[in-house]
Amino acid sequence: MATLAVEVVYRGIFQRTLARNIVRQIVFAARKDGKIGTAFGRYSDSPERNGIPAKQFAIVCDTALELEESLAVYEAKAVDVTINVDDSMCKGIESWAWYGLQPINELTKSDGTLIVTSRQDADSLIEDIHQKDTPYDLAIIPSTVSFSGLWVYKDDHTDMRILGTLCKVCPELVSLKAMLESVQEQTDNSTKVASVQRAHDRTTTRLVEPGEGNSETPFSFDMPGWKTMEEGLVIRGIPEGTGFRGGDEGYQPGRSEVFKKWSVRSMRPVINFDTCIKCTLCWLQCPDTCFDVTPDGLYDANMESCCGCGVCEAVCPVPDCVTMVSEAEFNDNNSQWDAWTADKDGYNKWMTVLVDQTKTETRTHGFHHVGGYDEEITATEEA
Ligand code: SF4
Ligand code: SF4
Repeated sequence: MATLAVEVVYRGIFQRTLARNIVRQIVFAARKDGKIGTAFGRYSDSPERNGIPAKQFAIVCDTALELEESLAVYEAKAVDVTINVDDSMCKGIESWAWYGLQPINELTKSDGTLIVTSRQDADSLIEDIHQKDTPYDLAIIPSTVSFSGLWVYKDDHTDMRILGTLCKVCPELVSLKAMLESVQEQTDNSTKVASVQRAHDRTTTRLVEPGEGNSETPFSFDMPGWKTMEEGLVIRGIPEGTGFRGGDEGYQPGRSEVFKKWSVRSMRPVINFDTCIKCTLCWLQCPDTCFDVTPDGLYDANMESCCGCGVCEAVCPVPDCVTMVSEAEFNDNNSQWDAWTADKDGYNKWMTVLVDQTKTETRTHGFHHVGGYDEEITATEEA
C-alpha cells in the first residue's frame, strides 16, 4: 500500500499548460503500471494571475480506497517530489492561501526530490533554496525556463524532460516503460518519447544535506483568527504619496504595508540612469505604481511593488535604458538608484554585464516571443 504525491510549482497563467501536461501525464502513465491516481489544481475556481506562483498536484495510489483517503485533505501536506518549473521561485513563493513566503521545498518529504528547470548549477540554486532539517535530492533539468501558458504554448519538450527525470528519481511512482508507452499513446510523437528517454538517462542528483542552503527566515504575517477580525469588510486605501523617502523633493507613492510582490517576479527591470531622458513613460505606464521619482528627476523601480510585468521595458523609448533581467540574478530588493548614486562606474559595469548576458538568454515573459518559438524549438532539437 502506498500513496505518492507530486506537486508542480509554476507561474500562474504563463506556465499553466506546462504544469497541467505534467500532472496529467503522470496519472496516465501510472495507470499503465496498474495504479490509480488523480491530477488537480489546488483551487477549483483557480484565481490565477500572470506570474503568481501556483500549484498543481498528481496523487498516485495502489488502490481506490487509498486515493479517496488522500483526497479528504485540501491539498497534499507533504510530497515525494516537488517540481519547480521556474528557478526564480527557488527563493520561495507566496501563493494563494499562504501567509508569507513558503520555501520551495516546504512540502518535500525527507529523502524526497526537488526537480528544478534551470541554467544555474546546483550550488547557485542551493544558495537561494531555504534550509531544511531533513535531507533531500536536487535534480536539475538544464534548460531555459519554459513559458507554456494559456495563450502562448512553447512546446519545447520541457514537460517530457521533467517526466523522464521523474521516472529516474521516483521509479516507485511510475516506471519508465509505462511513461514511454503512455507518452507515445497520448502524443503520437516519437521525438517526445525520445526526449523522455534521454532525460531519464542523463539525470543526476545532488544530495542536499540538512542545514544546507539559504539560512534566512522566510517572512511571515500573523493570520487574523475569526475572533480578531473586524466587523464588516474593510479594504484599506493606499496612503497618500510623499516626497522621495519623506523629503521635500521627488515623489514616492504610498504603498501597502503587507502586500509585497517579491515572489511574483520572474524578471525585474534594470535601469540605465545615464541614458534615461526623463520622459516619464515608465512611471505613467507601470500598472503597479512602482516608480519612485528621485530628487534628480530619475525613475527608480521599487522592488517592493514590482510584479515584473515588463511594461516599463516595452514603453521606454531609449534602447537598453530599461532591460528585464532574470530574478535569479538578484539577492536583495535594494534601490538601483542608490547603487548608481554611490558608485556610477561600478553600477554601470554591473549593469552592462547583466544586460549583455540577458541578450544571449531566451528567458522572456512569453509574449515577447510570439512567433519566435518555431525557430527556437528547431535550434533546441538540433542542439
Ligand atoms: S516590470 Fe516595470 S512596469 Fe511592470 S511592475 Fe515592474 S516596474 Fe512596473
Ligand atoms: S521610460 Fe525610459 S527614458 Fe523614459 S523616464 Fe522611464 S527609464 Fe527614463
